[in-house]
Amino acid sequence: MSISSQREFELLKKIGFVRTSGSQEELKAANILLQEISSIGCEGHLEDFKVPTSNIKKVSLKVVEPYEKEYEVTPYNCSISTPEGGITTDFVYIEDGLDANLVDLKGKFVLINMGPNPKLYKKLMKAGIAGYITMSGTARDEEDKTDITIARMREKNTQYGKVTALNIRMKDGFHMVQNKASKVKVELITEDIELTSHNVVVTLEGTKYPDEIISFGAHYDSVPFSTGVYDNGAGSVIIMELLKHFKENPPMRTLKFVWYGSEEVGLLGSKAYLKAHEEELKKHLLMINVDVAGSILGREMALVTAEQSLIDYIDHMAKIKGYPLKVEQSIYSSDSTAFADAGIPSLTFCRFAPQGGAFIHTRHDVMDFLSAEALEKTTIITKDFSESVVNSVVFPIERKIPENMKKKLDEYFGKDTEKEDSSEKK
Ligand SMILES: [Zn+2]
Repeated sequence: MSISSQREFELLKKIGFVRTSGSQEELKAANILLQEISSIGCEGHLEDFKVPTSNIKKVSLKVVEPYEKEYEVTPYNCSISTPEGGITTDFVYIEDGLDANLVDLKGKFVLINMGPNPKLYKKLMKAGIAGYITMSGTARDEEDKTDITIARMREKNTQYGKVTALNIRMKDGFHMVQNKASKVKVELITEDIELTSHNVVVTLEGTKYPDEIISFGAHYDSVPFSTGVYDNGAGSVIIMELLKHFKENPPMRTLKFVWYGSEEVGLLGSKAYLKAHEEELKKHLLMINVDVAGSILGREMALVTAEQSLIDYIDHMAKIKGYPLKVEQSIYSSDSTAFADAGIPSLTFCRFAPQGGAFIHTRHDVMDFLSAEALEKTTIITKDFSESVVNSVVFPIERKIPENMKKKLDEYFGKDTEKEDSSEKK
């Protein structure tokens, strides 16, 4: 068999450094991928795109009533500055932001249990908040062993307006609520800037149906503080191994392999690809994504945004081959979802660790929790499935996104569902 999980594991070590959206390190990883592509005997290229972000000049968060204490804080990129010198406002803990949590918030700073989705974000804007604070980590983390996530405001939210947004340790959020913090002073001074990020692209021409395209995707960027090997260096090396396989076994249909940059800041790489290749997209029949794999502890999953018959097909294939794979019709927060939103049936293969068995989005996403053997499991499943459709005599998957999935996509991307809401009320 042509698959070598050892080779995958070696490449994973090579790209296992922090490589955030639009950074020099992200570009360095792209070039390592390009080198690997040429060593396979293929020709790859980079496609660049702009990433709006922020240059942070000043940020601080201080509780001023009923006690005084300054907390460590990171701002969201692409949120907005306070006036120079900061603002002092009332502070309210709004839990999950249910309607009863959202009363009398005008001009106040709120602490919320999770990053708001578009529906909640819109409500927060309507309530007139001055800004919001989210939390990362756990209430019992030690400061020197954790980092505060640096997030970025998503376009699907900011279409409803921008506010100042901050992130703190959950430990500190807990402290603020426990001690009944009621007034805060917040200062955030930022400057809007643009970085350049890259997708890495390779095409393998189909031998029989060159005008029918199936694309493989994996994002290769990481979040700050994370070497991003589990999420998603692993997916990146898996599709590299598939490229090698299909180079040696020429496919009947044309294959695109795309390593996406800037997924972690809002699927920006896949969105840029979709925008830059509008004509070509008409030929795309299916997008096969791999995001999160290689964990020693874990279970295999396929999340499929397509008609039910594809879910049944993958489920049957897994059973026939004896692969323990859970298949669901769903959307997944990754580049496959951007493709599905463009009307292209999409799916993500992944290996999920049990809670605490491997870590994403923290400094603990490291090689220690991964193995070549575990990488091989997701690789084989992805290869067997994709080979069957890539070389099918008649392409079996309808190029259509079912209504129930369209609804989930609209929710995910924060498309205004106001009309549906009002018709429900009638
Ligand atoms: Zn990921």
